[in-house]
Amino acid sequence: MSAGDTRGTREALITERTRTVELIESLSARLTAVIDATADEAADDEHDPEGSTLAVERGHLVAQVERSRVRLHEIDAALERLGHGVYGSCETCGTPIDPERLEVLPATRQCVDCAMRASRRRW
Ligand SMILES: [Zn+2]
Repeated sequence: MSAGDTRGTREALITERTRTVELIESLSARLTAVIDATADEAADDEHDPEGSTLAVERGHLVAQVERSRVRLHEIDAALERLGHGVYGSCETCGTPIDPERLEVLPATRQCVDCAMRASRRRW
């Protein structure tokens, strides 16, 4: 990978990181609002249907924040690999990851083959 590619990758990762941080902030703000609303609902009537809608939304928001935090962690790890000059190699088999894949998923740790094997195991 040339120095120019590395710079482009770093920029892409930093852009992605900023977006993810903003997403976490807006999700967290929404989550706080939902928790406050849920507390009000619970005070009024525990069996209010509105209350259960909020509970469902809270569950979705918690899951989204959780996913976004994992994503942020992945991006930071990718930036670290870039700093150590080991970016772009598959963590599992060590072969260089397809540049097209890196363009779409700059924070990926694995080549297509290993990622497919891993996702088959998971599901
Ligand atoms: Zn691999």
